[in-house]
Amino acid sequence: MNPSTLGITLRAARSRLVHALDLEPSVAGLEAQALLSHVLNRPRAYLLAHPEAVLTDADQVQFDTLLARRERGEPIAYLTGQREFYGLEFLVTPDVLIPRPETELLVDLALEQIPHDTPMRILDLGTGSGAVAITLAKLRPQAQVTAVDASPQALSIARQNAERLATANVSFIESNWFSVLDESNRFELIVANPPYVAENDPHLAQGDVRFEPFTALTAGAEGLDAIRHIAQESPRFLQVGGHLLFEHGYDQEAFSRDLLHSVGYVDIACYPDLGGQPRVTGGKKP
Ligand code: GLN
Repeated sequence: MNPSTLGITLRAARSRLVHALDLEPSVAGLEAQALLSHVLNRPRAYLLAHPEAVLTDADQVQFDTLLARRERGEPIAYLTGQREFYGLEFLVTPDVLIPRPETELLVDLALEQIPHDTPMRILDLGTGSGAVAITLAKLRPQAQVTAVDASPQALSIARQNAERLATANVSFIESNWFSVLDESNRFELIVANPPYVAENDPHLAQGDVRFEPFTALTAGAEGLDAIRHIAQESPRFLQVGGHLLFEHGYDQEAFSRDLLHSVGYVDIACYPDLGGQPRVTGGKKP
């Protein structure tokens, strides 16, 4: 094998990704850096500062394998096994949805509800990698966070994340939404990033989502089944004055508002994400 330098390797990889995935060169360049930084176990800054450094054969083979998988469309986060969310590093595998930047809005809104210095009982429905639950628990050490998911594989990832991030005030339960929860033990805040994509949405055939768990993305013909279930069941698990907050699709604001209204929530509000799309709706149990 001809030894190659980091600089040459990155340039070649960027050009391959531009062609294979039709990416902007700047995005392809960042992806190439993310993969090489993962293989070398070095920060990006190292790659940029040492373009003349030479790859070992083993590193070259590993990098080429990951690059070929990326060319076939596998998400960067599954190839490197991690994704940053709210400034924390989460393990991710194809068993969990890759945390999205827009979901940081759900965390921001939840944090506004959670006091710093007094305990609060919080439920995260469909926790996946645990990104939302663990971030809340980490930033509000007084809070007691319960996180449920129907997938034991997802819970195993979430538990590893809680452990790696040294978060003791979050516990994980295998439950299909509320199925194993006890109504006599109510929460003051319920949060969820449920599946909300319509089953026949053409964007499910494009990009990263093709590799993500179908059950974490879709919920019935219109993508509304999980949201409907959560809205209808949640009042039984909330204390009086407690709040529900959930993420939804950009075109699901009116449905979400009407639904919360119809099941008795008050102070209903919808919040836009950074892209200006309606993304999170919430209400209070009177
Ligand atoms: N926002 C995600 C997407 O459209 C969907 C995430 C979800 O279903 N909770 O790719």
